[in-house]
Amino acid sequence: MSDFLPYFDTQTLFSIQGLIRLLESEGELQDQLFARSRQAKLSNIDNIVYFRGLIEFSNACQKNCYYCGIRKSNTQVKRYTLTADEIIAAARYAHENGFGSIVLQSGEINSPAFTEFIENIIKKIHKETEGKLGITLSLGEQNEQTYLRWRKAGAHRYLLRIETSNPGLYQRLHPNDDLHSFDTRLHCLKTLKKLDYQVGTGVMIGLPFQTTTDLANDLLFMHHLDIDMCGMGPYIEHAQTPLYAYRDTLLPLSQRFQLTLKMIALLRLLMPDINIAATTALQAIDPMGREKAIQIGANIIMPNITPAKYRNQYLLYENKPCTDENADDCLSCLEARISMIKHRIGKNTRGDSLHYQKRNTQTYESHLSGKN
Ligand code: SAH
Ligand code: SF4
Repeated sequence: MSDFLPYFDTQTLFSIQGLIRLLESEGELQDQLFARSRQAKLSNIDNIVYFRGLIEFSNACQKNCYYCGIRKSNTQVKRYTLTADEIIAAARYAHENGFGSIVLQSGEINSPAFTEFIENIIKKIHKETEGKLGITLSLGEQNEQTYLRWRKAGAHRYLLRIETSNPGLYQRLHPNDDLHSFDTRLHCLKTLKKLDYQVGTGVMIGLPFQTTTDLANDLLFMHHLDIDMCGMGPYIEHAQTPLYAYRDTLLPLSQRFQLTLKMIALLRLLMPDINIAATTALQAIDPMGREKAIQIGANIIMPNITPAKYRNQYLLYENKPCTDENADDCLSCLEARISMIKHRIGKNTRGDSLHYQKRNTQTYESHLSGKN
């Protein structure tokens, strides 16, 4: 173990060169990375996996991100939006089955009607579950007023991936207009933090034009932003998107998968007490993908509880799994899978990020001692 120490001392871990070396590691060094990230997880946040019931309630989107299968210009997508009652029923299912939290996710829409639709749904779910069901939103970029209304209605976590922390690469992945601006995305993340959301971000791994240096910078970016949660996964090409033209330049899927595991392991070492999701895109590449991620540092799973009839219309990328199963299938198979890897499910609890809890205690304490 001590032979590997120079790779894992704090100064090396927090350096671009140190991170690149570990992102490129194979064999014994990679095993060592995974052993350490696993240990960091177990000693900081134990072997508990929390569920977030994922409700992909609409694929309507005003944006045209070059990587995404439900981008506005993809005319082959049949657009749908669940009714408020359907969304609330899915939330009730999650609550009754001990999930502890839900994630409301959709394409991005900026409109007063959308803001109000979501606000009313959050209020109803919050009231019906007496505030016990955690509510995470993943609804893209919105103005401060909208974020504030949703926060007041009862949402308390927000996921907004930066996608890549390299502004130049970001620009190559998006149309060059005001709707797709790196600066706006970053500003939104800062606003969410100001409004006291638990903030989650993340990146795609194995994107066209992306380098290992970009990924190392992504890790430091997330640390610098002091995030509470992270969801990051492999980029998976989709035939009806502009980036499909670059499919021949990509790393093989198996390497994108492995690189994602290394990103998760490194983030766990840099930020031992945050929540890290084992994302569905991992499972799209390897049927045991999420379990592998949990064993090396992830602690969150987001089972899809969108009503089955809509799932085939929310294809962000190809080979998305679980599109034809019903929610019960997913729940029972997941329970068996988690115990197989010697983890426990944190049932009936929101499973808030320990990092967020500590961050708040610190702020409170420094406020009391007059430092803030
Ligand atoms: N519209 C919202 C939320 C839905 S998209 C938003 O964009 O924030 C959720 C995530 O799906 C995106 O952040 C992106 O990282 C991921 N995604 C989109 N297309 C993908 C692809 N082809 N491969 C892997 N992940 C993809
Ligand atoms: Fe819309 Fe999100 Fe897809 Fe971009 S990534 S096109 S905002 S759903």
